Amino acid sequence: MAGACPRFVFACFKRIERWGDKLTGAAGPFFVAVATLLFITGTLCFLDVILPSIPWPWLTTFPCILIIINLLAHYYFVCTLSPGFASDPPQRAGNGFLWAKKRHTYTYTGHGVHWSANLNVTPASTTKCSKCGEIKPERTHHCRVCNRCVLKYDHHCPCVGLYNERHFVMFMAYVVMATFCFVAFGWPHLLLAVGFHFDDNWEHWISPIVFTIIYFLCLVMCLAIGTMLAWHIWGVSVGETAVESQDHEHYRRVALSRGESFQNSYDLGKLRNLQLFFNIGPDGYPLYTLLFPFRVLPYTDGRSWARRPGLERHHGLLAGEELTDEEDNDN
Ligand SMILES: [Zn+2]
Ligand SMILES: [Zn+2]
Repeated sequence: MAGACPRFVFACFKRIERWGDKLTGAAGPFFVAVATLLFITGTLCFLDVILPSIPWPWLTTFPCILIIINLLAHYYFVCTLSPGFASDPPQRAGNGFLWAKKRHTYTYTGHGVHWSANLNVTPASTTKCSKCGEIKPERTHHCRVCNRCVLKYDHHCPCVGLYNERHFVMFMAYVVMATFCFVAFGWPHLLLAVGFHFDDNWEHWISPIVFTIIYFLCLVMCLAIGTMLAWHIWGVSVGETAVESQDHEHYRRVALSRGESFQNSYDLGKLRNLQLFFNIGPDGYPLYTLLFPFRVLPYTDGRSWARRPGLERHHGLLAGEELTDEEDNDN
């Protein structure tokens, strides 16, 4: 009886969360439309008001334009690319100019992994999804909104998984850069827009009210998305998705109750994890792919994973102790 009340509260929260998922799913296109409108208005404000006033235009104009292009392009890719469904065949690189070229032609390892380095790659174990009946490799989760199984599922907002997670993180990084520049270079214009100056007039095509609203939105977004980005980069550097960071918390407790310590087998060390996520480094794509909105394939097709040397599965977790999607939802 003692545990009934917290469990009831928890069940209520879960219901609210599920209801929230449905709402985000239904309102998804609306959010995307509002965000697109804001990005375009912000860009116009920047080009009309701030950019002409930035010192050394021959040096600063190109990086500013590059940040805007990256932001818009990565957002477009996150929203339009498939996150990678378990039932779809592995994606292949296209030959359009937006597809980055790899440093080397890789030796195909036969595991669907596109790295030739000495990685400990093992095929993913599979289970059957109880909701859609799809065979799902390790790290795949059933998305309640899409009602499909997504490879290396992270979260749905829009659906982020194996094939668009890089674009998602890059998009957040460019939003933080863009809003930071807007706030840092825009404040003298803000003073003018709200009327703190006596002698200068607002001589821009954008109205001062719109500029002021966008300025404060940029300030809020810089802080909020900056925090989200830091959390995501931390997750990437320890080899965890958003779902896994919750699951691993549970596994740590389970292992600890047996006097063992849990070790995430996908964690190859911070630098290696970041290299694999962005697929850069000696065996991946060149570093400049971080500066332009290139299309880049992930290092794996989601049917095998690179693991910490010596580990075939998570250490400290017994077979059958892995959380299923139902338990993730119901716990
Ligand atoms: Zn499923
Ligand atoms: Zn989804």
